[in-house]
Amino acid sequence: MRHVLLLDAGLVSRRRGRAYWSKTVKIEDAPVFPGGVTGPQLIKALREWVAGFPVRPRSESDPRPVGIDLRGGVLLNLIRTDDGFELVVSTAPRRPGKPLTIERFRARAVVIATGFEDRWPDIEVDESAQAIYERYRVVFRYAGNRRGWHLCIRCDGHLHVDRHIAVVGCGDYVYGTAFGAQDFTDKVTILTNGRPHGMSEPVLKQIRERGIEIVEKRIVKHIGEGTDLLGFLMEDGSKLFFDGFFVDEGLEPNTQFLEGWDVQTDEEGLLVVDEDGQVLDSAGNKVPGLFAAGDIVAGERNLIATAFALGQNAGLSASDSLRRWQWPG
Ligand SMILES: Cc1cc2nc3c(=O)[nH]c(=O)nc-3n(C[C@H](O)[C@H](O)[C@H](O)COP(=O)(O)OP(=O)(O)OC[C@H]3O[C@@H](n4cnc5c(N)ncnc54)[C@H](O)[C@@H]3O)c2cc1C
Repeated sequence: MRHVLLLDAGLVSRRRGRAYWSKTVKIEDAPVFPGGVTGPQLIKALREWVAGFPVRPRSESDPRPVGIDLRGGVLLNLIRTDDGFELVVSTAPRRPGKPLTIERFRARAVVIATGFEDRWPDIEVDESAQAIYERYRVVFRYAGNRRGWHLCIRCDGHLHVDRHIAVVGCGDYVYGTAFGAQDFTDKVTILTNGRPHGMSEPVLKQIRERGIEIVEKRIVKHIGEGTDLLGFLMEDGSKLFFDGFFVDEGLEPNTQFLEGWDVQTDEEGLLVVDEDGQVLDSAGNKVPGLFAAGDIVAGERNLIATAFALGQNAGLSASDSLRRWQWPG
């Protein structure tokens, strides 16, 4: 019974959401999809679901609109106004050399569910290209397929049980993925791609105990067949072959539109919220009218089931915040 503007950057840009990267591998644990679903199928199903709630009058006697207004748009700037928010949105695909198509929308409550972008490995990157899809064209050829780059060990580790898994990244951070990989196999190699491993002594001790190899040589080239990734050509001319390839180079939160806002974040830039999904400021106070859900929320598991639940919670809280009457007392 609310009028909801649903802005989806994926309709006007290549920012399609993380699940998109399961291009051909089925996601087995998404709620309401028994039998599994690929990322593109999931996006299609969710858009069909949204289409079932079109904008319409509230009732025969009340013409106020309710329903979901799905629009392609990249939120560029979120501005506080007297009665809520103004959203500055790029609503058409970006064309080189042309100005952006900008539209402005107003809202009384906003739920941020913009997720984050994974950082991709620095291998065969086209430094001359601006757009991420051009820069990482070779990496993306192998991404999201059964025998290619994976981003989530918990989601895709089962594809490589007792096989040799390569994990690209460095620092204690990458050991999170290498640690998880050991649920599936004992054969794990960490590739730092030319950087010092940067791991702390306790982590190194366990790595040695578990027989995990660390290779610090730079990776020069992918070795692949079609969209299958097989291994790497290293800087010294050697070739390394693996069965599964995971990358964990950190993340880029999709919160550029919050520049200048006082919001509390964790060390990765993810938003801190309260139990209602309401965004907190640096002093721990609720930011009026601003809610968040899904991968963009700090301290949550990055899973579809979690995103569904957090979305439901934040959506209902945002709706409740618009009630004309508050609980007496
Ligand atoms: C390769 C891979 C495999 C995975 N496999 C599984 C699995 O098997 N099971 C599982 O449960 N989870 C899996 N996940 C994780 C799952 O995809 C995420 O947890 C989930 O997609 C998070 O949902 P979200 O809505 O928070 O963010 P996303 O799905 O990332 O969606 C964010 C949305 O925000 C939009 N957006 C971004 N910026 C803006 C902006 N400025 N303005 C407007 N819109 C914007 C994007 O277009 C996108 O539609 C996998 C992830 C990856 C990368």
